[in-house]
Amino acid sequence: MQQTDPSTTISNGIKIPYFAVLGALILIILFFVLWRPLNPNRTVYIPLTEQVQTTVLENERLPAIVGNATIEIVEDRNPAQSQLSESLDQPKPEDDVVKDELDTAIAQDDNLVQYTVGRGDSLYGILAQYGVNRADIYLLTKEYKQLANLRIGQQISWTTDSEHNLKTFNWIISNNNIRIYERNGDDFIERTETREGVWQPFSITGDIDSNFVIDAKNSGLTSNEISIITKALQWQLDFRRLQKGDKFSVLLSREMLDDIHENSQLLAVRIRNGSKDYYAILAEDGSYYDINGDGLSQSFLRYPLDKPARISSPFNPRRLHPVTKKIAPHNGADFAVSRGTPVLSVGEGEVVIAKYSGSAGNFIAIRHGRQYMTKYMHLDKILVKPGQQVKKGDKIALSGNTGRSTGPHLHYELHINGQAVNPLTANLPVSSGLTGKSKTTFLEQLKDIKPKLAFSSDKNNVNAEEANPA
Ligand SMILES: [Zn+2]
Repeated sequence: MQQTDPSTTISNGIKIPYFAVLGALILIILFFVLWRPLNPNRTVYIPLTEQVQTTVLENERLPAIVGNATIEIVEDRNPAQSQLSESLDQPKPEDDVVKDELDTAIAQDDNLVQYTVGRGDSLYGILAQYGVNRADIYLLTKEYKQLANLRIGQQISWTTDSEHNLKTFNWIISNNNIRIYERNGDDFIERTETREGVWQPFSITGDIDSNFVIDAKNSGLTSNEISIITKALQWQLDFRRLQKGDKFSVLLSREMLDDIHENSQLLAVRIRNGSKDYYAILAEDGSYYDINGDGLSQSFLRYPLDKPARISSPFNPRRLHPVTKKIAPHNGADFAVSRGTPVLSVGEGEVVIAKYSGSAGNFIAIRHGRQYMTKYMHLDKILVKPGQQVKKGDKIALSGNTGRSTGPHLHYELHINGQAVNPLTANLPVSSGLTGKSKTTFLEQLKDIKPKLAFSSDKNNVNAEEANPA
């Protein structure tokens, strides 16, 4: 009979054990609630904030700043599992403008890029800066170790598909020794070729009628050659500002085979803008200089602050999301600075974006020359306007905590050829001129080159020495 009336039993005799059972149940429920998010296999989403990274990397210090730092090498240890998802600091898609009208006009032929190896270059660095799929670069350089022996002044060229996968890579060691690497499934096959083509000098001159790209194409220059010219003079001249009546004169070496040219090298260029002449002359070191042997680059600040700050989250193109295990690249470096810290433009350039934009918060993008773009995010106050010209070191904003950010910091990105690179280690342009013997050799060669860059109108000028060489 007792068992048909359990309530009496509990209320009378076992009051304390009843609450003990309740307590145990609560503990079990609490355990499940707390345990669930820690299990990565559960699909519980925890938003990853910058704060998470801040605590993990508390002890990291800003690396020493070295004048000619090398390009960071990021190896894809497991390229097959590359699964890119969106970066965490992102402006709205419509605010991610990287091309201007000159880029669009140049529009590379068949994604072919030709490049002259310069000082401080590594193959990995060159290809990564042009946005070539990193897994492909890793594959190629791992299999063919000889590619580490690129020499200054050597010509390389490559083609990619629309997904940035490497299709072919050419390395011209000499006319009798050209290495060609061609994609074959998951591999690259090497073969050696002897060029039957002959390198011949070409001189091309033209007048600006509508804009540089169209007029240069009409005069017979290829898109690739135009791109090399605009890059060589990117710090001297904004090609979009050339006007009717301006002139250009170009000296090229082209490899001719059956009247078709495949490769070309820019030897010298002169652009007349108004009454001013701009020159870029190729020296033996593979870099371009003006007619005095001075460098053509603009130097950059290594970081956009007037004093060093702790890096709270480093550049990491393969940052793993701790929960989803997908790659969420961190395309910049985060500086732990308090709200209101002055933010400086790292170089001379033009502000292309200055506005509030999605998770980037208050956001500024600056274009420097033709190849460089810097981005500054989570700002408290923007001090510049789109279209404004800025100089190296100009105060452009105050840092803050806007957008998707859980603590005051500055997110800073550097893009080279449209590719995000580590702003603390990337090869920045150096503005050094020629000295000593290389300068003497350069100035000697110039005596031969300068007359070849003459415009027909030069003959009317008083400079008889230039108009009538020899
Ligand atoms: Zn960041």
